Order: sequence, then structure tokens, then C-alpha cells
Amino acid sequence: MASRIAVVTGSNKGIGFAIVRALCKEFDGYVYLTARDEERGKKAVEDLEKEGLHPKFHQLDITNQKSIDNLQKYLKDKYGGLDVLVNNAAIAYKKKDAASFAEQAEVTIACNFTGTLDVCKALLPLIKPHGRVVNLASFVGKRSLDGMRDDLSSKFKSPSLTEAELVSLLEEFVVAAKAGTHTEIGYPNTAYGMSKVGVMALTGVQARDLKNDPREDILIMACCPGHVDTDMSSHQGTKTPDEGAETPAYLALLPPNSNGFQGEMFQDKKLYQW
Ligand code: NDP
Repeated sequence: MASRIAVVTGSNKGIGFAIVRALCKEFDGYVYLTARDEERGKKAVEDLEKEGLHPKFHQLDITNQKSIDNLQKYLKDKYGGLDVLVNNAAIAYKKKDAASFAEQAEVTIACNFTGTLDVCKALLPLIKPHGRVVNLASFVGKRSLDGMRDDLSSKFKSPSLTEAELVSLLEEFVVAAKAGTHTEIGYPNTAYGMSKVGVMALTGVQARDLKNDPREDILIMACCPGHVDTDMSSHQGTKTPDEGAETPAYLALLPPNSNGFQGEMFQDKKLYQW
């Protein structure tokens, strides 16, 4: 029987690293730890080896199309596809960062939203039947939607939103951020929050698109790991990375034909309404 494959983006540290640890223990197949920096990625693999776990490694920078294409080709040629994709990689500027809001908006959306979308465009066609795709979103995304002008938030929540419309909305946010008018036209003052709104809405769009897909039982879901003690949260989070990994790993490991998950968002393994 063909090997089963799981891939976790941005997994050299933090929650991604803990998701790889959890999957190495429970997933019946090979687990790929991926990192944009090869050295940091290989060091992370060594650390898990010391725990008696055996992840594999592949380089992946989600903002670099060549890097995405390399991984796609590798997975296709070696395994004919993959079974689990966890879109975990993301960035967040620190509050005291000197970069302008315009720059923060452009760079954050490019990584957290567009990078995730580009990885999905390359790898979703390779997901095998019964595959699971988990997109790491955030409670900050919900807070951002709640702080948005009503007619704008309705667009992100619309059950008929398309991928092209979603991309345009986020482009509109970045253009407005550069002009300094984003709050005037109803967007919240958070680049990270807007990137996660994008990931949440994208999950719904992708799940709807799957309705017309001939492959059996592929689930695409979003989740919030909770507030987790990692570099991103400046170690202010109350959960350990292993605790933060629980919900994403649970979704990645859902058994065949699980109901009530498609396109939804979860926190603490429960439905999270936004
Ligand atoms: P960390 O900052 O600790 O880790 C982020 C990981 O993503 C690192 O491995 C980083 O690599 C990687 N990464 C960043 N940019 C890229 C890129 N272009 N290509 C590939 N990898 C990249 O964050 P967390 O572990 O805290 O966050 C993991 C996920 O959980 C994120 O999606 C985050 O938004 C989400 N989340 C986190 C919360 C928290 O409280 N921590 C709360 C809610 C959601 P490198 O080491 O090279 O920088």
C-alpha cells in the first residue's frame, strides 16, 4: 500500500513543531516537518529524533513560488500526492516594530494569506481521498471581523464568496493601508487580524469548491490553537505549544467520513462560530 503523507508548514518551532510531534506519535505514515530555513528545519528534526520520533524534512518557504513548486513536484513524484496538509506557517509583527502599517499590511497579507493560498493551489490538487487540510486561523480573526464595518464583514462571511472576490478584498485592504484610509473605509487596524480573516474565509471557499470535486471525503477546516506560549505571542500565551497543537492534530487525524467538519472552524476541538 502507498505510504501516507502529512505535511506541516512552518514547523521548525512553536505550534507547528508541536503538531509534527503529535502527528509523529499518531499519524499512520510519514510526517514532513517543513521550514523556510533548512538549517533551522534540520535542527528541529534532530530535536524530535532525540525524543525517539522520526519526522522527515523538506524545505518550504510559503512566500516563494519556486520553493512551493519544488515541494509539490517532490510529493507528486515520490508519493503521488499527500494525505494531510497543515497550513501553520505565519508571521506577526511585534507591537513595538518600527515598520509602517502600510509595510506590515503588505508583508503580513503576502505571507499569512497569499502564501497559504499559494501552498493550497499547489498541494490541494494532490490531496488523496480521505485527506485532511487544516488552516491555522485565530481568535484575532474573529475579533477583526467583529470590528469591521457590517457590510464589509458580510462580504467575508458570504456563503457565495469566491476565491477571486476574497483575494480582491484583501488587495483592497492593503491598498487602503498604504493610503492610510483602511479604518475610514471600515477595516480594522490590524494586519495580522486581516490575514487571519482571509484564512478563515478561504477555508469556507475551499470547502465549497470541493463539493464539485470527484475525490472522496476530503475535509478542509480552520482552527484557532488558543493563546499559546510561542515566539509569536512573545511567550504571553497560557497554553503550551503541545496544548496548542491538540486541535490542529485532532482535525488532521479525523477518521474517514467524519460529519460536521467541512469548512468549519474549531477551537478546543469544538465548533467555533464566526
Ligand atoms: P511562531 O512564530 O512561533 O512560529 C511560526 C512558524 O512559521 C516558524 O516556524 C516560522 O519560521 C514559520 N514561518 C514564518 N514565515 C514563513 C514562511 N514564509 N515560510 C515558511 N515558514 C514560515 O508562531 P506560532 O507557533 O505561535 O504560530 C503558529 C500558527 O498558529 C500561526 O499560523 C499563528 O498565526 C497561529 N496562532 C498562534 C497563536 C498563538 O497564541 N501563538 C494564536 C492563534 C493563532 P522561522 O523560524 O523561519 O521564522
